[in-house]
Formats: sequence, structure tokens, C-alpha cells
Amino acid sequence: MFWQKEFETMKRDKLEKLQLKRLKETAALVYNKVPYYKKLFKAKGVTPGHIKTLEDISKLPFTTRDDLQKNYPDKLLTIHHHDTMRLHTSSGTTGKPKAVFFTRKDIDVAANNIARCLTMTGVTKADVLQNMMSYGLFTGGLMMHYGAEKVGALVIPSAIGNTERQLLLMEDFKTTSIHLTPSYALYLSDIFEKKGPAFRKKIKLKRAYMGAEPYTEETKKKIEKILKVKVYNSYGLTEMNGPGVAFECEYQNGMHLWEDSYLMEIVDPKTDRPLPDGETGELILTTLTREGMPIIRYRTRDITAIIPEKCKCGRTHRRIMRIKGRADDMFIMRGVNIYPQQIERVLMSVAHVEKNYQIYLDEGDKIKVKVEITKKLFDGNLEHLKKLQADLTEKLRTEILVRPSVELVEPGSLPISEGKAKRVFDNRKIY
Ligand code: AMP
Ligand code: ZN
Repeated sequence: MFWQKEFETMKRDKLEKLQLKRLKETAALVYNKVPYYKKLFKAKGVTPGHIKTLEDISKLPFTTRDDLQKNYPDKLLTIHHHDTMRLHTSSGTTGKPKAVFFTRKDIDVAANNIARCLTMTGVTKADVLQNMMSYGLFTGGLMMHYGAEKVGALVIPSAIGNTERQLLLMEDFKTTSIHLTPSYALYLSDIFEKKGPAFRKKIKLKRAYMGAEPYTEETKKKIEKILKVKVYNSYGLTEMNGPGVAFECEYQNGMHLWEDSYLMEIVDPKTDRPLPDGETGELILTTLTREGMPIIRYRTRDITAIIPEKCKCGRTHRRIMRIKGRADDMFIMRGVNIYPQQIERVLMSVAHVEKNYQIYLDEGDKIKVKVEITKKLFDGNLEHLKKLQADLTEKLRTEILVRPSVELVEPGSLPISEGKAKRVFDNRKIY
């Protein structure tokens, strides 16, 4: 199903023409209205007039997380903040947050993109969407709320946590779709397992939208099996309006990125060289329709690739692959680049492994993985435990090329996260 078929299936040449028009407008807007951008453009020796083709975007300066923090609270606005309507900040943990302002039109465009996402996965006004994301400065709550309202679904703003109440709402109001982080989904799936099949039979759940943090295909499969839902990957970031930037369609094979709102590039994060479709690198995004706070060539630090093939659904907006990691959450151990997602993928593919785990990096380039295992195995035969430990160690070594020490712990013994999970504890003195 389409929300705006004419835009979602627009011929590529027409779409690219629209992108170029919007890129020129956006570049002129920031150049003329935001002194900081004028300075960045001048430092690169470019003006908006230099943009003649879409490829010319590579002449423009990047915007980094640091630029946003330096211009905190409102120095990147094109208008006075009296003319904006909403503020969101990013969940960054260190230093000043990144503040993003929205006009009425900006919110409307963001909500419209989410309406496209929900509609392509089958949501209609007859659906009930329980939004289990925190409502506040984080975009996951309010932005998804506005998008689902646009479709006309009944939205339950249950926010995150208070799991017993979530289950009650789900049962009483016949929730069909939920929106949540993968870490909360893992927590929820534990509760579902405890409640047993009788509870699952009472509820009408069909789909889960999972995003806001990285997770693997294996985690997705685990959640699909336990919750008995289809899990759709949802990608977004505060700087780019939050959820609804890229989303899986009914074919669940990569996420369509709405190219009439964002211009995407993939660059080599080390050399900044643009990479062709299909190659893995850092995703760079430019807003094409934002009025209040347009952003040029934002370095997301997210590692992905553009899928060159057309999608069977007929949408012409290109897809990106599941996020492989962050250019900055990657860690280096004995010269090997390691993504926490690689470790998760191995853990989740092995029987008797539960959902919670932690990675410790210690002096002397030591890596320790603590992982919860099933109660039955934990209380059982020591030989079986040893075998699982050896098996995991070997599988992890093959994947990350470093031999970790593996500690098997009792289920429920690692701290549970209802927000974004902290998985990696780096105790090395790197600097
Ligand atoms: P925030 O601005 O706090 O919402 O965080 C945005 C960041 O969360 C992105 O830059 C990604 O690193 C991460 N993120 C969001 N959605 C996903 C997703 N579906 N898969 C992997 N990472 C994601
Ligand atoms: Zn598709």
C-alpha cells in the first residue's frame, strides 16, 4: 500500500531533478541565512552557484556533530526561534546535546515520511499503534506519534517502560503494531516467554517497528519468533527529523530512504572519498526540504551501503542496508576493527544463549564477553557448560579474529536496559 504513490514511485530522472532543485534552494538558504554555513562554504571556496548537478554536492562542506555542538543552542537556524515550533535534542551522552528546531512545515514533512513508512508495511486507520518510545526530547516518541496520527491509526502513547501496563494496554485496546528499541524488545520478549502462549493468543499484535539503535538480523529473528510479529527496521536520527528517514517495506530487504527529503551519499570515512552504490562506508545526509534548520552533508557516522537493485515494491527511492555499526563505536583490538554487532550476531545464533550480554575491553588488548545463558543449562551439567563456553569462544574468534574470554552468567544477572543499552565497556587507556 502507498501513502503517496506519485512521490514514492516517481521516475528516477524526475526525482533527481526535484532533488537538484531542492539542493540548490537549501544551499542558498543556509548560505544567506546562517553565518556559520557562509563561513564553511567560504573556507571551501564554494557558493551555492557552484551547484549545477547533484554530484556537485561533494564540493560542499560537511557538517559534523561538533559543528552542531559548537552552534548550540540555536546558531544554525535560518529564522528566529519564535518562528519554530518544536525542539528535539539527540541522545548523545557527552558534552552539550545537539539541538534541532522544527517549523510547522518541518514537522509536517517528517510526519508525512513516517506515514509513508507505516502505510508500506500495511498500517491503516483501522490499526492500533502502541508507541513504546520515550516521549520527550527524543524524536522516537513524538515524531512517530505524529506520523501514525497522520495515517489515522489509533495511537497509544504508552512510552517506554512499565511493562505490565504495556501488556494490559496491548490486550485491552487490541494493539496491532508496536514501535520500540531492540533492547526494550528483548526485555519484552522475556516477559512474553514468562507469560506463555495463552497470553500471546489473547493479543492481536502483527508488527513491530524496531530502530533507534543498532541490532542484527539474528536479534530480529529472535524477536519475530518470540513475539510472533513481523519486525520492520526503522532508521533515523534526531539531526534528520528522527524516525522515518529510512524504513523497510513489505519485502523487508533493506530500508527505503526518502530521497525527496534527503540527499544521501556514502563516503569512505577515512578519506572522505565518495563511494559508488553497493560499497560500504559512512552515510552522509543533506536535508532537502527543511526550513528551520537545514543541514548540509551531515556525517552520520553510521556505516551502511546503498543497495543498487530496484525493489520489487515499485518504490524508486533507493534502499540502504541494515546499519553495520558506527564509524565511532567500532573498536580496534590487536589491530583488528571490531563492531559490537559482529559479537551480537554470533551470540544470538547459538542455542542456550539468552538475550543480554556485555563486552569488556581490558588492558593488554583483552576482550571479555559476558553473556546470559538459559537457567536450565546454567544449573545443569558442568561439562555442557564448558562445551558451550568453548564453542562460543571459537565462533567469536573466527568472527572477530581475536580470542575472547567468555563468561557464562545466570539469566537475569546482567543489568536490564529499558532505554538504549550500553554494551561495550572500554577499560583500556587508549589516549
Ligand atoms: P538519536 O539521534 O539519538 O535518535 O540516534 C540516532 C542514531 O541511532 C543513528 O545515527 C544510528 O547510529 C542509531 N540508529 C537509529 N536507528 C537505527 C537502526 N534502525 N539501526 C541501527 N542504528 C540505528
Ligand atoms: Zn520496497
